[in-house]
Amino acid sequence: MTSFKKGGIYILSSPSGAGKTTLVKKISKNRNFSVSISHTTRLPRPNEKNGKDYFFTSKNNFKKLIKKGDFLEHAKVFNNYYGSSKKKVIENLNAGKNVIFDIDWQGTRQIRNKKLNFKLLTIYILPPSKKELINRLIKREKKNMKTVKKRMKEFKKDLSRWKEYDFIVINDDLKRCYDKIMRVIKNKNRKNLYDNQFIKNHVRNLEF
Ligand code: ADP
Ligand code: 5GP
Repeated sequence: MTSFKKGGIYILSSPSGAGKTTLVKKISKNRNFSVSISHTTRLPRPNEKNGKDYFFTSKNNFKKLIKKGDFLEHAKVFNNYYGSSKKKVIENLNAGKNVIFDIDWQGTRQIRNKKLNFKLLTIYILPPSKKELINRLIKREKKNMKTVKKRMKEFKKDLSRWKEYDFIVINDDLKRCYDKIMRVIKNKNRKNLYDNQFIKNHVRNLEF
């Protein structure tokens, strides 16, 4: 039997705009939870701060960090590079802290395949409807429709990844969604975490 170390890895993924960054921030307010702050080559949004939301960096520097082996995982998403730094994450996990990741399906796969000696729970967030998702993106992107369209172009492909995750949850009411996630995180019995048929039907509706 595998004996896991104390800290756990919790990954949240979703189609863009479903609310994972908001949820990650809320979860990180709990004692003993820290967020893995990613590096990215994308430009900061007006409210984003370097070192808090992301480490914003150039493509050249990002490539150097890949070469040095600094990333636990990295991927190209929406034409930009994103990666999770290995050192800080492993330090926190070894110190018994839980680490939350807001990363895409490619990074999730890479971390899963590493079979690290820490508990791993992967969570996929779904929007309540496509219309609401578009509204959330428009609000966040301050009506920059070019970015909204770029994100929505990948929606169907992103959505199809839900099956690779341990727990699927719909982010309709934020507080309710957060409570469900915290219940699953605290639950030691990780079987039958969600109603598969219900989620399948919801995904089918989102596809149209
Ligand atoms: P993601 O990280 O999945 O791309 P964000 O967390 O940035 O998504 O959320 C996208 C937008 O939707 C933000 O403006 C956020 O405030 C809003 N939002 C997130 N969750 C909810 C919710 N449950 N109800 C309404 N708006 C939400
Ligand atoms: P955004 O630009 O909206 O902040 O993020 C775009 C996408 O990149 C989201 O799906 C987000 O989860 C993902 N992402 C953010 N950081 C990382 C990372 O370090 N690695 C990977 N693989 N994806 C990331």
